[in-house]
Amino acid sequence: MEDIKANLEKVRAQLKPGVQLIAVTKTHSPMEINVAIDNGVTDIGENKVQEILDKYDSVKPVRWHMIGHLQTNKVKYIIDKVCLIHSVDSLKLAKEIDKRAEQHNITMDILIQVNSAEDENKFGISTDETGRMIRDILDQCPNIRIRGLMCIAPFAEDPEDVRPFFAEVKKQYDEFSRIRNDRLDFKYLSMGMSHDFMAAQEEGSNMVRVGTAIFGSRVY
Ligand SMILES: *Cc1c(COP(=O)(O)O)cnc(C)c1O
Repeated sequence: MEDIKANLEKVRAQLKPGVQLIAVTKTHSPMEINVAIDNGVTDIGENKVQEILDKYDSVKPVRWHMIGHLQTNKVKYIIDKVCLIHSVDSLKLAKEIDKRAEQHNITMDILIQVNSAEDENKFGISTDETGRMIRDILDQCPNIRIRGLMCIAPFAEDPEDVRPFFAEVKKQYDEFSRIRNDRLDFKYLSMGMSHDFMAAQEEGSNMVRVGTAIFGSRVY
């Protein structure tokens, strides 16, 4: 079994000050997740609704993040379980989140997923749609608070190659950070995974989503 404690120490040693670590726990058991929590992990990320539901009751108290593509018809299952949805990529999804948040009498924090590389294999809107998406959500989704942007870079052997994609999202993040009200309140720029979180941090990320470097490789 992976030495989760040692791996966490290694990852933490590489984090820049003020960067928040989301431990990505997909495919891993509640037992492994609880080891991470016992070693100081406060935030975990899952990319599938079903995995959140399966593990929710067996995992110690922690903040859950939805980081993967979210189908509209599944929002209702997680609306009261997650603290932040990183992967909002359509107005349709935002409207459903809004509706379910209203039913639960909460304001849901979300990030908008930007696919700055225009990678066909990834979800997310293109950078020129970000402003429009933000305006539409502000107009039509009163129970949502937009907290920032999220980006998944395409895989590259050399993480140096994806810096421009991170930099582009950081530039947008800074632009929208200048406007601030109670529903548009940028605080999180979620970029960087196990193989590219150093580059992402250097390009301005303040939230990294790290799985493999903590829990070892995944067996599906
Ligand atoms: C799996 C996943 C990660 C973590 O990937 P690793 O390479 O294991 O660190 C980060 N973000 C998202 C959206 C993921 O699905």
